[in-house]
Amino acid sequence: MSSKRVIVVGAGPVGLVAAVALGEAGIPVTVVEAQKEVVDDLRASTFHPPTLEFLDRFGVTDKLIAQGLIAPHWQFRDRKQGVIATFDLAVLSGDTRHPYRLQCEQWKLTRLLRDQLDANPDTQILYGLKALEVEQTADEAVLIAEREDGSQERFAASYIIGADGARSVVRKSIGASFEGITHPELYLTLSTTFPYEAHVPELSKIAYISDPDEWLVLLRTPSVWRVLFPTDPSIGDEAMLAPETVEARLQAVVPHSGRYEIVHKTAYRVFERVCDRYVAGRAMVAGDAAHLNNPLGGMGMNGGIHDAVNLADKLTQVWRGADPALLGRYERQRRKVAVETVQATSLRNRQIMNTRDPAQREAHYEDLRRTSGDREKARAYLLRSSMIQSLRELEQVV
Ligand SMILES: Cc1cc2nc3c(=O)[nH]c(=O)nc-3n(C[C@H](O)[C@H](O)[C@H](O)COP(=O)(O)OP(=O)(O)OC[C@H]3O[C@@H](n4cnc5c(N)ncnc54)[C@H](O)[C@@H]3O)c2cc1C
Repeated sequence: MSSKRVIVVGAGPVGLVAAVALGEAGIPVTVVEAQKEVVDDLRASTFHPPTLEFLDRFGVTDKLIAQGLIAPHWQFRDRKQGVIATFDLAVLSGDTRHPYRLQCEQWKLTRLLRDQLDANPDTQILYGLKALEVEQTADEAVLIAEREDGSQERFAASYIIGADGARSVVRKSIGASFEGITHPELYLTLSTTFPYEAHVPELSKIAYISDPDEWLVLLRTPSVWRVLFPTDPSIGDEAMLAPETVEARLQAVVPHSGRYEIVHKTAYRVFERVCDRYVAGRAMVAGDAAHLNNPLGGMGMNGGIHDAVNLADKLTQVWRGADPALLGRYERQRRKVAVETVQATSLRNRQIMNTRDPAQREAHYEDLRRTSGDREKARAYLLRSSMIQSLRELEQVV
């Protein structure tokens, strides 16, 4: 195997987008994945307009749309008052080919991307290989990886991209710090077949529902509704996920004579972290390996995919002879978006959801009503929340 290639660590959405983009540019790519196959757990489920435009490049957007649900609008609600503001993405029809959010499970994208890589003779995915460390010389980067039987192998490459998620070993190998905060609450996600749209008036497919005692999010996917609640971790996983506990929480949102059918439940910790460096010599990080944020706004996977496209474009130019210093611009551009757009928006959304002070809540609501009720204000707001504005502003970052 030639060392004149790019190794991508991690076959999540970010690693696979980077690999497909590089592969389409004719660059040999090896993806190294610790699991036996592409992971298909239910994680992100919202695709923003610019992400769909990027994925158009690889011919996967239409296939994704065919497997997903178009959400033309989304809303903020109050648990008692009902709808506070509905944001109609049609106001972005002059800004994007996809003026909507697509609700579709993350694993449907990774399967499509895997198929693209399998069809390209220049790209391959090696499964069951756990990256341990990255070493570098002036001429190459070396990935040390472990097989399931405990044996180790060294893989040399021109460049290594760490898209190996929150616990990234590539990030640790480049000595990046990953400072930030851990939210005190866990996020409990319950997936149910219950048809909320038939029971909650004027419900959008994505609804952020504020409440001083217990906020929640309702997200429609093609097969289920996902209900996200903040949860006190001190009650313990077993009690939190117990059938009677989750039934009671769902009954408190919409009382229903039968039992809720729950097809999936998970509780996870949420972090707000951005690493201090994205690039060190021939190694770089992208996606969750570089930044983590709460899911209110659906920006984690989307931002990671935008990283992957930006990095692959620059790496392609470097591969073809451009100055490797160009990779520093990837770091400057995408780190700025992680801090100023992704983290700022997610934190702001969390604040709107859990503000307890009644006057402050009403002020948030008034602001949202005014914004959604004015076409130009709504457009400006949606350009930011749909992650279009952050991409437009990148050109100013040198
Ligand atoms: C329960 C849950 C719900 C979420 N919901 C949302 C949501 O609603 N909206 C949203 O935008 N985001 C959400 N997220 C976040 C979103 O899923 C991530 O932002 C996204 O998956 C990041 O993609 P990634 O490719 O960077 O990392 P990952 O998807 O984590 O992929 C990393 C890949 O690297 C592999 N890997 C890890 N370590 C190694 C190693 N040492 N060697 C080799 N391979 C390795 C892993 O097996 C995995 O396949 C959620 C996350 C969780 C956990």
